[in-house]
Amino acid sequence: MSNSSAYSAGSIPGPYRPVGAPDGTSGDTPGGPGPAPVRARKSEGDGGQRRKLDYPPLPEPLPVPVIDNHTHLDFRDGLVEVSLRAALDAAEAAGVAGVVQVGSDLESSRFTVKAVDADPRILGAVALHPNDAPKLAAEGSLEEALEEIEQLAAHPRIRAIGETGLDYFRTPEEGIERQRYSFRRHLDIAKRLGLALQIHDRDAHDDVVATVLEEGAPERVVLHCFSGDAALARICNENGWYMSFAGTVTFKNAGNLREALAIADPSLILAETDSPFLTPHPYRGQPNASYVVPYTVRAMAEVLGADIEELCGRILANSTAVYGSWD
Ligand SMILES: [Zn+2]
Repeated sequence: MSNSSAYSAGSIPGPYRPVGAPDGTSGDTPGGPGPAPVRARKSEGDGGQRRKLDYPPLPEPLPVPVIDNHTHLDFRDGLVEVSLRAALDAAEAAGVAGVVQVGSDLESSRFTVKAVDADPRILGAVALHPNDAPKLAAEGSLEEALEEIEQLAAHPRIRAIGETGLDYFRTPEEGIERQRYSFRRHLDIAKRLGLALQIHDRDAHDDVVATVLEEGAPERVVLHCFSGDAALARICNENGWYMSFAGTVTFKNAGNLREALAIADPSLILAETDSPFLTPHPYRGQPNASYVVPYTVRAMAEVLGADIEELCGRILANSTAVYGSWD
């Protein structure tokens, strides 16, 4: 199925085009090896406005392959359902050799374990999202859920516990203590199993840093969708924590992220999509996918004044240092 009409820079990759698209292609058939998506992204934006549901065009492929170290293949978005193989083929055509599929509740973590068995270009992370922990705790099912996360994490291609962390954006005051408890439990699982920790940090930089330092960091810590400023980047540099940059680094109002990137230790830089969310400029709000990473990586190279090949090589080496080999 890898033919030139499915993958040519400047057009939407075949599997991501809706059936009956005006260019005469038919899109991909859903299914194929691996599990089907377990949830769908809303077709309205946060403010209730309708989103544009087209996928971005395929970027010019990267000269050296990189890794998308944070994606949610369990989320369907746009007007098509894309199989795991088709998603990874499109990513590969763009110079994205592999991904880390991230679970954020029991259902998507179970999906993740099936996904890593379905395609060798996928490694996985499993966890309960900080926004869900308070609900589970209130229902009395948090301990049981954590136990299952730990069992799922025993799979040899699950290489991280995540996304876990703290999210003070949506959580009311009474949920915060439960979130902190869940985060500490995830930290403990990562350390006992010798896995990396992928942290979700939204409006909670100080408490994330304090919690990791108090509990003792696992050997490899990643701040996924890095959202801090230069001060937080300095803390990451000092502690050897990885900073994973998403499409947000391309947003016009994200000068703080570019300042952080500019001083980040090059050996700690990663790239991600958080797809289907956080699509880079100028496709903000549209569906995102791993093949879109090159837009973000090229913007990063510009911020760093770096040679694109050198930056890609760095990202690949750093990704392997965190998660091990995809082979
Ligand atoms: Zn995510």
